[in-house]
Amino acid sequence: SSDITPITATLFPGDGIGPEIAESVKQVFRTAEVPVDWEEHYVGTEIDPRTQSFLTWESLESVRRNKVGLKGPMATPIGKGHRSLNLTLRKELNLYANVRPCYSLPGYKTRYDDVNLITIRENTEGEYSGLEHQVVRGVVESLKIITRQASLRVAEYAFHYAKTHGRERVSAIHKANIMQKTDGLFLKCCREVAEKYPEITYEEVVIDNCCMMLVKNPAAFDVLVMPNLYGDIISDLCAGLIGGLGLTPSCNIGEGGIALAEAVHGSAPDIAGKNLANPTALLLSSVTMLRHLELHDKADRIQNAILSTIAEGKYRTADLGGSSTTSDFTKAICDHL
Ligand code: NAD
Repeated sequence: SSDITPITATLFPGDGIGPEIAESVKQVFRTAEVPVDWEEHYVGTEIDPRTQSFLTWESLESVRRNKVGLKGPMATPIGKGHRSLNLTLRKELNLYANVRPCYSLPGYKTRYDDVNLITIRENTEGEYSGLEHQVVRGVVESLKIITRQASLRVAEYAFHYAKTHGRERVSAIHKANIMQKTDGLFLKCCREVAEKYPEITYEEVVIDNCCMMLVKNPAAFDVLVMPNLYGDIISDLCAGLIGGLGLTPSCNIGEGGIALAEAVHGSAPDIAGKNLANPTALLLSSVTMLRHLELHDKADRIQNAILSTIAEGKYRTADLGGSSTTSDFTKAICDHL
């Protein structure tokens, strides 16, 4: 693979366990000879006035330039007068879709062994924007903004994803029977896009029913697309189906083809710096990044090595009931490669 021009990707190791699990990704990429050069960026120690947060302008520019990156967890420093790092990234880079693949890991027993679904969450609007105010004492109001533009954009992404990833069905998750205007518009946009993809089966599922179906038989779902807040909740529910936060990857898709992959979990301060973290979530996130880059061979190899290591059961981190360190587990994956 040395004759391939390397792709430059931004890397935010992040806080807490971030640097340890980012090291694991770097090691695995080196072993698998992935043609990616990392451009590392760190969270600043002072507020950058251009971003109004600890995220530096140079970091944002790096993602804009490279259009692809991997992000470790970022602990939002407590204080006033600045924006959360994650919110800054989401808003500034217009990361409009959050994609979370969720599948049962062979050999790691949970209640279900046939989960294989993708949640796609609208990432920019809806209740989740937190546009709230007090009308008078004792009465507050929250604004749920849904736009045709953002709904079409995420629906288009979901159907395109389904088509290009060999998926057969897209389910739009909603509560349009009650939220007739907002979720109604979301559904209308999904229907419009569905018409352009006759080969993909389209269905609409009310969110309460969706929750019941997910815990009863998650195999009934393929690709799910939904507004922001529903996505926040449903995607964590799905993580729970397969074994928890140490395992679940995600990728944020932004305007102009930007892809910023990230683990779903936080900085895990309780185990930071102890070589105990499970790097699987960030590693599988890096796999979603490789798939976005259409480096499917490398993605498959790395994914298989991770899955075989977990399935074998000899090297597992503490969150999966094992006693391996982050570096032993990483080495085992590299040996599989
Ligand atoms: P957390 O996800 O960091 O930790 C929750 C629990 O899960 C902890 O017990 C932790 O040890 C465990 N855990 C998480 N990831 C793990 C891994 N890879 N391997 C093994 N165990 C793991 O959530 P928290 O404690 O609520 O948040 C800590 C900090 O992270 C906060 O500052 C929060 O703002 C930040 N955070 C950042 C992001 C992000 O950057 N996307 C997401 C969530 C939380």
